[in-house]
Amino acid sequence: MPDARTLIVPHADVERLLPMSACIDLMADALAATARGEALLPLRQVLRLRGGRDAFAVMPAVLGSAIGAKIITVFPGNDATPFDSHIGVVLYFDDTNGRLLAIIDASSVTAIRTAAVSGLATRLLALPNASDLAILGAGVQAMTHLEAMLAVRPITRVRIWSRGMPRCAAFARWAHRRFGLTVQVCETPESAVRGAQIVCTVTAAREPVLHGAWLSPGVHVNAVGASVATARELDTHAVVQSRLFVDRRESAMHEAGDFLIPRQEEAIDNTHILGEIGALLTGEVRGRQSDDDRTLFKSLGLAVEDVASARFIYERARAEQSGTWIELGGLRPADE
Ligand code: NDP
Repeated sequence: MPDARTLIVPHADVERLLPMSACIDLMADALAATARGEALLPLRQVLRLRGGRDAFAVMPAVLGSAIGAKIITVFPGNDATPFDSHIGVVLYFDDTNGRLLAIIDASSVTAIRTAAVSGLATRLLALPNASDLAILGAGVQAMTHLEAMLAVRPITRVRIWSRGMPRCAAFARWAHRRFGLTVQVCETPESAVRGAQIVCTVTAAREPVLHGAWLSPGVHVNAVGASVATARELDTHAVVQSRLFVDRRESAMHEAGDFLIPRQEEAIDNTHILGEIGALLTGEVRGRQSDDDRTLFKSLGLAVEDVASARFIYERARAEQSGTWIELGGLRPADE
């Protein structure tokens, strides 16, 4: 009998099979391959629900021999519930018979791969000895971003700000338990950011929470939260003064309010995007030019990141003979 089984990978298994440091290297490979033209990567389809705040997104990609898609809901209001604000699956297919090889929890893949890409951008753009980190936002991405920043820079000081102080305090307790770190909870975003060498914005804000006037020379910013054309986390000054890199130029032109709103104000034009992270890896563009440069990575999240993660998770689970396998279908009816 041919093997027609599909692997089901729940949240806890993703966390075990996709460790942050391995995921950072995996994202480097995926984004470099994308920069070399080895991916099929259309813009994601986003259906806006009800008032437009909630969304249902379909994100397909082909990366080399890996075929897949993430299908996900984004409900920012889940922030106040036990549910993740990003829920869905990553589907992974083979390119021989088109078999569905794996169905993987998307909340955990999204949490890890997004932070891993920020980790990669930080590895490429931040000052080598950057040790002072500020995080704006205290949700799921704040947690994985702390782990990613610790993986790529010798972080010794961490400050956090979010709207909800209890959430920040809970984050600080978690960080102490997990990494033995003391995290300073700040009452304003400005007091979290002043003097920081790395800043991660991971909020669901639609208006700026980070102002350029607070950013020191030499800082590197990962702007992760806003992923639609009408929302932004950074004010215009923060973008104008920075050397700007993106995960994908085409996506930024359609989906990045952090870029599109300053462009609409005519503070910048398209040339302000200096390149993609993948082009930094292939050596096509140069990143930081001096210790005083402010660098900015605008992350939107790409389906190639999910598909690369899915392939990695599937191959590891298969090698370990772990996981739950089901026969979903896909075989022809047997001949009589
Ligand atoms: P969570 O729901 O876990 O956390 C959201 C955080 O944003 C909370 O700290 C919340 O504050 C804060 N927040 C919500 N609304 C506002 C507001 N109006 N002003 C300031 N802060 C606000 O979300 P995640 O951590 O999973 O995701 C964070 C952001 O990153 C989201 O916007 C998400 O869509 C985006 N994202 C981007 C990805 C990418 O690839 N670039 C991938 C995944 C997510 P409080 O503590 O007060 O509730």
